Amino acid sequence: MSSKLTFMPISHTGWGALEQLTDEAERLNASNVLIVTDPFLEELGMTKKIVEPLEAKGWKTSIYTEVVPEPPLEVGEKLVAYTKENKFDLVIGLGGGSALDLAKLAGVLATHEGNVADYLNLTGERALVDKGIPRILIPTTSGTGSEVTNIAVLSLESSKDVVTHDYLLPDVAIVDPELTVSLPPKVTAATGIDALTHAVEAYVSKNANPVTDGLALQAIRLISGSIRTAVEDGENKEARTNMSYGSYLAGLAFFNAGVAGVHALAYPLGGQFHISHGESNAVLLPYVMGYIRPSCEKRMKDIVEAMGVNVTQLDDQQASYACVEELKKLVADVNIPVSLKGFDIGEDALDSLADDGIKQTRILARSPMPLEREDIYAIYHAAYSGE
Ligand code: NAD
Repeated sequence: MSSKLTFMPISHTGWGALEQLTDEAERLNASNVLIVTDPFLEELGMTKKIVEPLEAKGWKTSIYTEVVPEPPLEVGEKLVAYTKENKFDLVIGLGGGSALDLAKLAGVLATHEGNVADYLNLTGERALVDKGIPRILIPTTSGTGSEVTNIAVLSLESSKDVVTHDYLLPDVAIVDPELTVSLPPKVTAATGIDALTHAVEAYVSKNANPVTDGLALQAIRLISGSIRTAVEDGENKEARTNMSYGSYLAGLAFFNAGVAGVHALAYPLGGQFHISHGESNAVLLPYVMGYIRPSCEKRMKDIVEAMGVNVTQLDDQQASYACVEELKKLVADVNIPVSLKGFDIGEDALDSLADDGIKQTRILARSPMPLEREDIYAIYHAAYSGE
């Protein structure tokens, strides 16, 4: 079977990569630049690092700071309306996945009729027709990989939906680990496990191929080897660099191979209980992998090996159990609750979570084990009881 692979944005990676910003903006013929970010990053003074060199070139800049974590649809609608009213020629997204996803929508939908809702994957009825205004995406978390994917995620009342098309891909990604040093331990942990989940799900995806396998395994090595240090000592340059490269590689892997059960079940947790995307993935990761384990034992042996555990003496089945244990241990080590009870979610919520989880048919299709509603309920139940 053949595979389509997309590695689109020109990428500048590594400590100090931000220095490439003005050259790239110049190449894209910028003169009136919109910067999409969140108020906290503005407060931290991070937007200055973007605005000053651009203004030194004589370009006009406008900073839009109304991004909120896990942005609801209405926040996207407001930003897109604002972008349409102004004649920007470049959109820069600065922040975590929330800011980057909104920057993608602003850039693409500026040249489209209708609302964001019209383009949603599950309920929208319009199709994107062009790539809109050029975009440069600059992540400040090591998590989503949004800087290299063609997806923008929005929160709806009880779950999430996405706008997805290759037109959403940015022109340039600038992945500078220095911008992640200010991340607090809790966000480092949650976003880091999000990135690990991308790599793990890409590796066991039905759409995996040797290219995505290489990306995913290297991401797993980098993230599992550095996340504890990055959480404990946020100024550790090596750990921050490994996390940035890990999340970038995991982004490329999952964009091309897809994610599956963990993400499908995480969306309702985020939607119904406003748990961050990273924590939603983290609390479910060991339980989804534990459930689908019989369908991908050999692959789980590769994963646990990439996590640095010596399993040479174990057969595939034994190693797959070791993989589940190692994932659980890693989540606990970075201080994320390892059961839904840790998020005050009661057993009475599991039915409605399962009702929304089964709706994520596009994502569930990549699971190596088909998951029906009763399977999804069983996984939520395991995550609730912690077993
Ligand atoms: P986020 O963007 O919501 O940011 C989380 C918090 O971290 C915010 O309060 C933000 O102000 C803060 N923060 C960000 N960078 C910081 C820094 N350097 N220092 C201090 N604080 C900082 O978090 P996220 O996990 O990166 O993004 C989550 C969003 O991305 C969700 O909506 C999720 O669904 C989406 N997502 C998108 C993709 C994709 O491919 N497009 C993939 C996965 C997740």
